Amino acid sequence: MSHDETRASRGGWYAPLTTQPSVPAIYQTTAFDVDGLEQLDDFASGLSSGHIYTRDSNPNHEAFAADLAGLEATESAVVCSSGMGAIAATLMSRLGHGDHVLAARVLYGRTTQLLTHLEERLGISVTLFDATRPEQIPALVRPETRICLVESISNPLMEVADIPAIVSQLGSVPLFVDSTFATPVLQKPIELGATWAFHSASKYLNGHGDVMMGVVAGREQDVAGIRTMVSLFGMNTSPLESWLASRGMRTLGLRMQRVCENAQRLADVLQAHSRVRAIYYPGLPGHPTHATAGRMLPNGYGGMISFELQDGVDGVRRLFRNLGEIPFSPTLADTRTTVSYPAGTSHRYLTAAQRSEFGITDGLVRLSVGIEAADDLELELLSALDR
Ligand SMILES: *Cc1c(COP(=O)(O)O)cnc(C)c1O
Repeated sequence: MSHDETRASRGGWYAPLTTQPSVPAIYQTTAFDVDGLEQLDDFASGLSSGHIYTRDSNPNHEAFAADLAGLEATESAVVCSSGMGAIAATLMSRLGHGDHVLAARVLYGRTTQLLTHLEERLGISVTLFDATRPEQIPALVRPETRICLVESISNPLMEVADIPAIVSQLGSVPLFVDSTFATPVLQKPIELGATWAFHSASKYLNGHGDVMMGVVAGREQDVAGIRTMVSLFGMNTSPLESWLASRGMRTLGLRMQRVCENAQRLADVLQAHSRVRAIYYPGLPGHPTHATAGRMLPNGYGGMISFELQDGVDGVRRLFRNLGEIPFSPTLADTRTTVSYPAGTSHRYLTAAQRSEFGITDGLVRLSVGIEAADDLELELLSALDR
């Protein structure tokens, strides 16, 4: 080691730590050095386990996945570069030419788009159904039905699915629940009978609006195939993203409690306002799935509210201009309250007829309630509506 370029290119390694860091280190490394061929054989045969290549596994991904699996009261979880990546990996792990999918007719817009894409490219077929009418399921299930997709709280009308009722009608067809809006604090879909609980970790799990990540939890035998897809298609995320999401999740319980309290308060205020024609929040007795929500979401009704303004899109323009520090941002579950416009963002690519069938009108606004002081939020919202 006499030459500078040799010394510089190899760097130094530090001695093993005698005290452990209080917070996990960020393992920003492509690969892990293997201690000889014997160790490689031990990994391959399952005699011992270890990380080899970050596309396949990394301690930061493992830590986040273990946290989430624990919260979902299940064995395992797989992390992915985004929520859409995790949904795609799940579908790819299960579907082949000729297979059939049952999907709720109201899903995150990109999920519906992905299913349509796979229908054309893979030769699968997709049947949409009303997730609030589980009794219609048996007539739709076919021998080649491989998976059913629903959301615990649907976007944007916040319809709450009765998971045990859906599972019982599905028979042996496994259920995939997009639980992004509920989080494991409000609902644990696997305990209710689902096979997979999915989250866009870009939303509440990380909770700070600075990470893109997806995660699917379930029994090891149900998620192993998803892990293989993530590795083969290269859908892995970076160690830093997992580290950030793990840190964000430390405050998930507190954030969800605050968000539910704030949202219930704002829903009451909005419901009473003369400029609001309709309001969709599962915590309001008038919501179509309020009774189901009481059983499915015992710890709170979530932080997402949609409401329809009297003056249609003109009313929306006026409101967005007057909202001051509440920004129009086409995401959700940030620490700060944000508004979005479903007809122009998440559901833009549906036809006008589909939007009206699903109740997504031109005057519909979606509010993602944050963790600010409720008094401030109420004041800002009321003054924007009254102006
Ligand atoms: C955001 C979101 C997704 C997609 O997740 P990304 O992390 O944005 O890819 C899926 N489902 C729901 C309900 C979402 O809100």
